[in-house]
Amino acid sequence: MTDVNHWIAGERIAGDRTLDVVNPATADVVRHVALGDSATVERAIDAARTAFPAWRDTLPAKRAQVMYHFKMLLERDADEICLLVSQEHGKVLEDAMGELKRGIENVEYACSVPELLKGEYSHNAGPGIDTWSNHQPLGIVAGITPFNFPVMVPLWMVPMAIACGNAFILKPSEQAPSAALKMAELLEEAGLPSGIFSVIHGDRTAVEALLDAPDVKALSFVGSTPVAKSIYRRGAENGKRVQALGGAKNHAVVLPDADLDNAANTLIGAAYGSAGERCMAISVAVCVGDDTADALVGKLADQARMLKIGPGTERGLDMGALINASHRDKVAGYIEEGKAAGADLVVDGRQHPLVDESPGYFLGATLFDRVTPEMSIYRDEVFGPMLCVVRVATFEDAIALINAHQYGNGTCVFTRDGEAGRRFADSIEVGMVGINVPLPVPVAFHSFGGWKESLFGDLHAYGPDAVRFYTRRKAISQRWPRTQQRESAQFNFPSN
Ligand code: NAD
Repeated sequence: MTDVNHWIAGERIAGDRTLDVVNPATADVVRHVALGDSATVERAIDAARTAFPAWRDTLPAKRAQVMYHFKMLLERDADEICLLVSQEHGKVLEDAMGELKRGIENVEYACSVPELLKGEYSHNAGPGIDTWSNHQPLGIVAGITPFNFPVMVPLWMVPMAIACGNAFILKPSEQAPSAALKMAELLEEAGLPSGIFSVIHGDRTAVEALLDAPDVKALSFVGSTPVAKSIYRRGAENGKRVQALGGAKNHAVVLPDADLDNAANTLIGAAYGSAGERCMAISVAVCVGDDTADALVGKLADQARMLKIGPGTERGLDMGALINASHRDKVAGYIEEGKAAGADLVVDGRQHPLVDESPGYFLGATLFDRVTPEMSIYRDEVFGPMLCVVRVATFEDAIALINAHQYGNGTCVFTRDGEAGRRFADSIEVGMVGINVPLPVPVAFHSFGGWKESLFGDLHAYGPDAVRFYTRRKAISQRWPRTQQRESAQFNFPSN
């Protein structure tokens, strides 16, 4: 059994405290992860402080070269990385490959950092004055990431932060920590100077040390809403720049004119892929009209019962185990609550044979119909393989329902009516919208972020917003008066 150590200044550092890392498909302990504290964080900060000035002064084109190498190394070791993700998270290997590829997109985007840092320039902004702005790195920045995307979410942050000239300290989820350590090794192999990227494993103790460290200038967080909120508050109190992405409850509206076969096929993947443990998973299907609902529920139920479920490390499966026993039990508890509240339990995930036969944390797909807004299965983020169907009379009712929900991460509408799609995109209070696209996760050259309780802060993750988040702008005005041209004192505020 190996230890998953911290990574500081190019060295693996063991922890005094450790935690078991469990394979959710078997309930076996597969590794032990170190748990850091304020002394560990201080050590990473010292390494970053030493390394930062030279990295800040390294040409952006050279920093981009490190990203090129990093991309190639991630691709070279893709199978190994996906195996680590599947073993510790439970998701199926093909899905792990999907998250890795979406993560690599962000490394590719970071390769264009010389272009992204060009800044703005005005010739003759005033008489004989040129003004330009440039983006300068912040110094030491940190990221705290969730269990559900052990590769992709760190890659939302690390490549752009580093390519912009910062030093980065990553605190990955203690439940799926190995991919972060692998990334550290690959960044070193890619030529990143030691100290520019550190990994501190751990729990709340390590996070609080990062939040309170004056040298950490900015913090990117992705995780659940209560933690996002508290991190945003404490980080802001400590004068840091913070972006804190939280939980979600993503609705898909199905209009009567939609291609229902297509909607059902894509909804099944969007609801149950990764056992529903995705912040962009569709967990509510809002059907406009009873005819639409009756037809859709029939199609969804057939497919939900047929899903191939098993250990994520086996090929050809649709869905793996949930992250841990208490989370599996929590989701099972929601199934009971939904039933008790009067929702129509069409497919019960607790009936899947693996629930009793396997020591792993399995649940089958659950489908509820006739869910209403006051039920806990509708209000809360369940974060499991559960899809709730809500029936409404009109398109306006569907929009009002979604706009009243506390979360606003992603949403989509299934329709063949372009006008309806456009109206939906205009009026829905959600940060990422799909029109016949159930998982509208923006590509790396756009930015990712929800509204309402799904994001605290101003700037979204990755893409163009990442340049703004990981740099501070400086506006420089310059004049070179001719030698003979002397200026007189001016007491009025200068204007053109
Ligand atoms: P979590 O909030 O429990 O943990 C996230 C990170 O915060 C982990 O690194 C964890 O160690 C740390 N942490 C946990 N409790 C803490 C505390 N009290 N104080 C300080 N740090 C703490 O989230 P999770 O269970 O790992 O991930 C699932 C959640 O993440 C879901 O709510 C999901 O919607 C959300 N998520 C959101 C997005 C998004 O982009 N909005 C993306 C992925 C996941």
